[in-house]
Amino acid sequence: MVCAPSAAVFAAPKKAYDLSPVQVADGLWMIEGSTEYFTSENGGAIVNCALIETGTGIVIVDTGPSRRYGEALLEVARGLNGRGVTAIVITHHHPDHFFGNQVFGATPIHALPETRALAASEGDGFADNMYRLLGDWMRGTEPVPPNADIASSLLEIGGRTFQTLPLSGHTGADLALLDQKTGTLIAGDLAFLNRAPTTPHADLDAWRAALSTLEGIDAAAILPGHGPLDRSGQSLTQTRAYLDWLEATLEDAALEGLDMVEIMASELPPEFAGMGAMPQEFHRSVAHLYPQIEREALPLGN
Ligand SMILES: [Zn+2]
Repeated sequence: MVCAPSAAVFAAPKKAYDLSPVQVADGLWMIEGSTEYFTSENGGAIVNCALIETGTGIVIVDTGPSRRYGEALLEVARGLNGRGVTAIVITHHHPDHFFGNQVFGATPIHALPETRALAASEGDGFADNMYRLLGDWMRGTEPVPPNADIASSLLEIGGRTFQTLPLSGHTGADLALLDQKTGTLIAGDLAFLNRAPTTPHADLDAWRAALSTLEGIDAAAILPGHGPLDRSGQSLTQTRAYLDWLEATLEDAALEGLDMVEIMASELPPEFAGMGAMPQEFHRSVAHLYPQIEREALPLGN
C-alpha cells in the first residue's frame, strides 16, 4: 500500500542512527545498543554489534534492526578499514540482530542452518511487528535471511579464526563466537547484562545448559547481546539468576492460583527492577511463559 505523505512528514527531519564504535580488544570494536525496549525514539538500536578486523576487511557480527541501521554500520566499517566488509555473522534470528542484512546482499552472511531457516520462516512476521513499533525508521527494510551455513567448529575469515559454538535456549539456534586472537566471546542473546533478557522463543533448560557451556570458556571478555561489555563473567551469572527467578516466580504464582494481571502487578526484586526494559520484558515473559507453567502446575483431574 502506498500512502501519499503529508506535509508534516516532508517537514520532519530524517531520523539517523548515531553509531559509535568502541575498541574493546585488538582489532575488535563494539557498538553498544540502548538497554531500552524498542521505541520510535531509539529506532530499535537496542542491540550490540561487533566489528572485527581481518586481512580481507571487516567482519560484522549482527546487523541491527533495519536497512537504515545496516547502512550506518557499513559506513562505520569503511571508516575502520578501507577494504570494507568481508563477511557477516548472525548470532540468531531475532529481527534486531539481522534486519540490516539487506545492505550486505552480495557478502557471505554466515549463520547456523536452523537460524537461516527460522529467519526465512519468521522474518515477514517480525517485519510487520517492527514497522508497527518503529515506524519510519524501518522504511525500505526487508528481511534477508543469512546465505551461508556455519557447519564446522572453526570459522576462518581473512586469517582470523573464530571458534563457533552452536547452542540454543534463547531461541532454537543461538551461535556464540570466540575470537581466538583476543579471547573475546561474542555471546549473542545467550548473555544479557543490566538489561532484562527476552524470552519469546526461550527454552529455559536449554538456555541454562548453554550458559554452563559459556561459563566453561576462559574468555578475556564477553560481549553480550544487550548491555555493556563484560570482563568479569557477570553477564552469564546475571542472566542465569534472572531465568531462575523468572521460572520460580511463575511456578509459585501458578501454585497460588494467581492470574497474569496479579503477577504483573507484583513487586520486582531490587536486583532485577533496575534492569533496562523493565518491567516491559517481565510482562512479556509472563504473557508467553505463564500459560504452559500454569498448565503444568495444575493437578491432574482438575
Ligand atoms: Zn534475541
